[in-house]
Amino acid sequence: MIELKAGMKAVVVGLGKSGLAAVRYLHQQGLDVAVSEFREQIPKEELAVLEQYGIDLDVGLETGGHTAAFFADADLIVPSPGVPADLPVLTAARTRGVPVGGELALAAGRIQVPVIAVTGSNGKTTVTSLIGHLLRSCGKKVFVGGNIGTPILEYLLNPGNTEVVVLELSSFQLEAAGDFRPDIGLLLNLSPDHIDRHGSFEEYAAAKMQLFVWQGRGDTAIIGTDDVLLAAAPPTAGEKLYSFGTQPGCRARVEGEAVRLEPDFGPEGTGELYELAGTRLHSRVNLYNAAAAILAVRAFGCNEQDIKAGLTDFQPPQHRMTPVGEISGVRFVNDSKATNVGAVVAALAGFGMGADKEVVLIAGGRNKGGDFAALVPAFRQYVKHVVLIGESASDLAAVAEQAGVGYQFASDMEEAVAMAFAAASPGNTALLAPACASFDMFRSYEQRGEEFGRCVQLLA
Ligand code: ADP
Repeated sequence: MIELKAGMKAVVVGLGKSGLAAVRYLHQQGLDVAVSEFREQIPKEELAVLEQYGIDLDVGLETGGHTAAFFADADLIVPSPGVPADLPVLTAARTRGVPVGGELALAAGRIQVPVIAVTGSNGKTTVTSLIGHLLRSCGKKVFVGGNIGTPILEYLLNPGNTEVVVLELSSFQLEAAGDFRPDIGLLLNLSPDHIDRHGSFEEYAAAKMQLFVWQGRGDTAIIGTDDVLLAAAPPTAGEKLYSFGTQPGCRARVEGEAVRLEPDFGPEGTGELYELAGTRLHSRVNLYNAAAAILAVRAFGCNEQDIKAGLTDFQPPQHRMTPVGEISGVRFVNDSKATNVGAVVAALAGFGMGADKEVVLIAGGRNKGGDFAALVPAFRQYVKHVVLIGESASDLAAVAEQAGVGYQFASDMEEAVAMAFAAASPGNTALLAPACASFDMFRSYEQRGEEFGRCVQLLA
């Protein structure tokens, strides 16, 4: 646990939502807070918050970079999740023995209620919000935060009568997690992502595994064992290790459009069956997500009936395999949040294969350092035709060529949607699953997904 004492000097590196929450929390604890920010200009509203929390803007704020002098007398450094761990001022501080820890490291040891924490390459937001929803359905007062939106420190600023904290954690947050120890930790899957920031897949995977490092007696680890990497090297620190997936022996097993829990969860050893066919969780990836979430809340102590009630009215978050319309028998599905190769492979695996291939795919955007070669077998098996957009269009064209799949280039989303429709037959799905970030053409993945929906409406 990071020591916090009144009068200590803390430097928060990088503002943004979680940086501002750190400023407020450290100020509340009586520390003398300063801020070092990469941007030259800081919006007026943020400056006002800094002043409100005791920061003298002349001496307590540096902008346009991070200088050694500004950090010289710091007793504690709190980098925001967006700040690279190998920033020279952070490395130098570690060498001097100054504690460097992100919001999770600050929260470690200070959360007085059980914590359920979710990480993985894909499905974090869906599973985190589903766990929050199921816990509420079981009558619990829940704080849901982390990478999903509300900063973790907001909980410590105002714990209220919260009974359980549910956190979505990114690899960036876990990289600076200190001795954070969740009561129940979930690692959903592992596939390459953010290699541009972590440097290698090994380092990215090590950041994810950080979730379990401090677990011990009474703690539960939940992992997706259809993922060969996780099945081969499961975490060992916690007391209980539960698995979910389609493999025999999983504690929560995906069977058709249902999830079966192993007998030890059911009354008198019968197991429990959760039917998902009539819910919004019946897509292939969401069956996995449901298995993980059910296992977590059941391990937490929720009962079967309340969980089943919660499953029926859960609305998965938008831009994740979200149906957006149907034109002449062609379904349009928005999976704009599929920004890495793993998410696209998982999405495609839910469709018909071989002679029944039914997907016309719209892909492309800014590559985050992923290796597109892993798409070749999925294209070959599931994709009829590809429409390519954005910076990485030509790299993805090479994938399509290797897979023997036809492709076209589109200059914007409207053209892409029209081309996808023209290439599709009734019964097919035109799927936006870019395998890339959106920033070359759009402000965000949300805007990309909205533009896709708008173009589908236009075509209709
Ligand atoms: P994250 O928060 O990890 O990015 P999301 O729930 O936002 O996860 O989903 C991101 C992308 O991953 C979407 O394209 C979604 O369809 C896909 N996805 C969701 N769950 C899974 C899963 N269990 N395995 C693979 N892909 C998934």
